[in-house]
Amino acid sequence: MTDPVEWEIFALKYAERPDAMKHEHFVFTDAHDGPMPMDYFIWALRNETGRIIVIDMGFEEKEAKKRGRKILRTPAEALSGVGIDAATVEELVISHMHYDHCGNAHQFPNAMFFVQEREMAFATGRHMQHKTFRNIFAVDYVVDLIRALYRDRVTFVDGMVEMAPGVTLHHVGGHTDGLQIVRVWTARGWVVLAADAAHLYANLNDVNPFPLVFNVADMLSGYQTIETLADTPQHIIPGHDPLVMSRFPAAEGAEKYAVRLDLDPLNWD
Ligand SMILES: [Zn+2]
Repeated sequence: MTDPVEWEIFALKYAERPDAMKHEHFVFTDAHDGPMPMDYFIWALRNETGRIIVIDMGFEEKEAKKRGRKILRTPAEALSGVGIDAATVEELVISHMHYDHCGNAHQFPNAMFFVQEREMAFATGRHMQHKTFRNIFAVDYVVDLIRALYRDRVTFVDGMVEMAPGVTLHHVGGHTDGLQIVRVWTARGWVVLAADAAHLYANLNDVNPFPLVFNVADMLSGYQTIETLADTPQHIIPGHDPLVMSRFPAAEGAEKYAVRLDLDPLNWD
């Protein structure tokens, strides 16, 4: 691998679900149910040469209405707050193809999409016969990616790849068959953007899997992979945890909805 260069990492919150309940997040639940909100993020990397890599692209109003979710800003609006023009983004990693990670392709007309081969096979193959799996996908978004493929705008990843100096993609599966995570070199060391390989810090800390899952064993192995790839627990960024917003310093110019993950956390309560 080439010598890593340092990247800035932004977590950009674009939607939220304040009415989510605790039992929705864990396979093993106790009698003490209660509210446990979740946030929806995309992430952006930028290095000193100005190279930009975006991870995931959220969902749109139509899906939000259908599922009772609340969009606060489009991913493109969120990106513009930290000085990134979605229309000029050339590299976009798709962690997995669930509706809340792979919509809005039209906002990224110049992007090459990096997706695991297994994820495209999963989203278009026999397991989609089951409503249980299919319900979390949006067929229009899947078709958007297929259209992109036919326009030379999909790069398939098979397992692990070094996408740029200091940025590697790693297949973990579990939550979906082709889910991938992103490891990024920063001023504070190796940070892992776990996306839905770890929804919340508590899934990892309590080794209590998230119930929307394709393969539980792979999800549990994924928790171990995340821990191996990250320098410390403070270098692990779960995909939907509101604590990310309170733990990390706000990004200048987008204080209300963006934080810097390449900087040390402000607190770790
Ligand atoms: Zn997901």
